[in-house]
Amino acid sequence: MEGIEKVESKECYMAGYARDGLPSSDHLKIRTVTLSLDLDSIPDDHVAIQSLWISVDPYLRSRMTGIAEDGLNVSQFPINQAIGSYGAGKIIRSKSEKYKEGDIVICPEMPIAEYSIVPTKAVAIKVDPAFGVDPVDYLSVLGVPGFAAWIGIEVIGKAKEGENVFISAAAGGVGMVAGQLAKLKGCYVVGSCGSDDKVKLLKEEFGYDEVINYKKEPDLDAALTKYFPNGIDIYFENVGGKTLEAVLNHVNGFARIPLCGMISQYNKVWTEREGVRNLLNMVGKEVHMQGFMLRSYMNRFVDFITEMGGYLKDKKITSKLKINKGIESFPESLASLFTSSNIGKVVIEV
Ligand code: NAP
Repeated sequence: MEGIEKVESKECYMAGYARDGLPSSDHLKIRTVTLSLDLDSIPDDHVAIQSLWISVDPYLRSRMTGIAEDGLNVSQFPINQAIGSYGAGKIIRSKSEKYKEGDIVICPEMPIAEYSIVPTKAVAIKVDPAFGVDPVDYLSVLGVPGFAAWIGIEVIGKAKEGENVFISAAAGGVGMVAGQLAKLKGCYVVGSCGSDDKVKLLKEEFGYDEVINYKKEPDLDAALTKYFPNGIDIYFENVGGKTLEAVLNHVNGFARIPLCGMISQYNKVWTEREGVRNLLNMVGKEVHMQGFMLRSYMNRFVDFITEMGGYLKDKKITSKLKINKGIESFPESLASLFTSSNIGKVVIEV
């Protein structure tokens, strides 16, 4: 990029809020803007970044409703501005004392664009090549999904050897890490997912003891009776709705239910969301159910990176990526999270 003073950059921007239904190109549009890379035009304490990898996560859907307080309680993307997501990029110009050209960095809110200029404080991590971890791993096992899995299994779930763990959306970015972590803790682990390919992968590569294909299983309650003759100690909740309702028939005393997400409800206005009839079972079983957002656990991030980085380097935890190419694939990639079509963590290679 040396000597280049201007670039044409594709970016994905918020064209209109989507109160319900699948996100689509009606709401997210792509445009090309010209960005000046001339050092004089970059503000002090800013860097210009060439995007390498962009994370596609379900919570982004909740930033598109136009109502921050609803559901996940996340800030809304401003209309007509490039939207942002967790990303990895290369610094191509620097007016920051902290970073230099060529550094590979991770930004929690990187503009979904080929190139961008961001303040130094928007950069969270500089990737140290000596650590031996691929930058894209910071979007998966060492990023949002891995951290969510770790908080759910270790911090809120407090998984102990011999406990029985059930994980929904088990082959997604979060579920594939959560299951492996629970196995490392010595738990019996059952997952649910929506295709036979995922069932095979979870058993053969991620060490799940049993897996339920919920699309082929008409009676989830009966399936849980079969796979959990001794009840469930931890339910790692990713989907909500009928799955949560069925699980509550099988919880043991003092079970823990970390509420990581409820993806089956994200495209619905609250009056259309499913109720859960079995909450009563939580009373007598003294169940602990707790929602969590990673932003409240940043004081544990170093503990997480230390433990998970070790597992990754020792190959005790592996992951799968679903790679889509180019900024223009972002709207469709986001919509695809609400189907069973992806295996593993969905990322965009820019
Ligand atoms: P992901 O990799 O995009 O996987 C999503 C999977 O969910 C899909 O592949 C699909 O797989 C399943 N799914 C989609 N719609 C569904 C429906 N209507 N009913 C049942 N399953 C459905 O997602 P992820 O990154 O693993 O995230 C999983 C959950 O964790 C989401 O709820 C997300 O919001 C949450 N999360 C929370 C935090 C936090 O800080 N609390 C952080 C990260 C993620 P199958 O149908 O094949 O199972």
